[in-house]
Amino acid sequence: MNYVVGNLTDPVFRPPSEWNALLIAVTNGCTRKCTFCAMYRTKKFSVRKDIEEIKQDIKIAANFYGNQVRKVFFEDGNAFVVKPEILIDLTKYCYKILPNLKKVSAYAHAKDIVSKSDEDLKRLAESGFTMVYVGIESGDDEVLEACHKGTNQDEITLAAQKCHKAGIAWSGIFLLGLAGNNPEKSKKHAIESAKLINRMAPPTPIKWYISPLTLRVTPGTELWTQKSKGEFQPCSSTQILEELYTMIEYTSDDLQNCIFNTNHASNYLNLKGSLAKDKKEFLKRIELAIKNPNVRRPDYLRGL
Ligand code: SF4
Repeated sequence: MNYVVGNLTDPVFRPPSEWNALLIAVTNGCTRKCTFCAMYRTKKFSVRKDIEEIKQDIKIAANFYGNQVRKVFFEDGNAFVVKPEILIDLTKYCYKILPNLKKVSAYAHAKDIVSKSDEDLKRLAESGFTMVYVGIESGDDEVLEACHKGTNQDEITLAAQKCHKAGIAWSGIFLLGLAGNNPEKSKKHAIESAKLINRMAPPTPIKWYISPLTLRVTPGTELWTQKSKGEFQPCSSTQILEELYTMIEYTSDDLQNCIFNTNHASNYLNLKGSLAKDKKEFLKRIELAIKNPNVRRPDYLRGL
């Protein structure tokens, strides 16, 4: 259950691991319109300009939930787009009036990380801003361009390295199936994603997080229209698992402290462990699921 206050407008999204966070609206909607994403279609993007009003929301939450709040998640789709001094101000305010607060996080687009200086990111981390959740989707620049992600492998690598350097934890989300069912394109999507994972590895031993999700083509999106016209054919569940296998297979055996998690409800198989430590075990389990459809999560139980 989330703690909610203020003028959040439906629909509201947050990462699964923020299920118990206080959700505070800093922006409304998302800065982008990726072709596969239906999350914020009903919202026109805006930034809340009145910082005192946001603080008032946080104060109301502190009066209401007080000691229970351990996490704050800045909404909406890309709260990281706002100026660093605003994020720093709001983060400091959260810690000031929420006595048990341990974590402040937000969704972030790679571009909005790269546009902030190393110094700004460091100050943000020092203020207590803890983690960014970045929808990477793919390491393949062609896939990123086709889905209008507005970034590329080099920029995402830079964003990750800047976060590692500043001390902001990195949680990267990939999207299996985004290249469609063409075997060559699907394989390239997986290999380039593995390459990006390898390039994002922190130079020092700190924890970082990678979570692949699986595409579901949703009504109201450009991808839905492409599918209806026969321009996009989704992968079968076997192809999705093969993609996951290739992605893991091509990751470096030298990766450390990379928490790898496919527990999201959209996936056919739950894996949780550490790359590269659990790589062989992951591959064994995926191989079993490729051979045996009975061990896969059935489609009717898959969620977004
Ligand atoms: S995938 Fe992320 S960046 Fe793209 S529209 Fe959806 S929320 Fe925004």
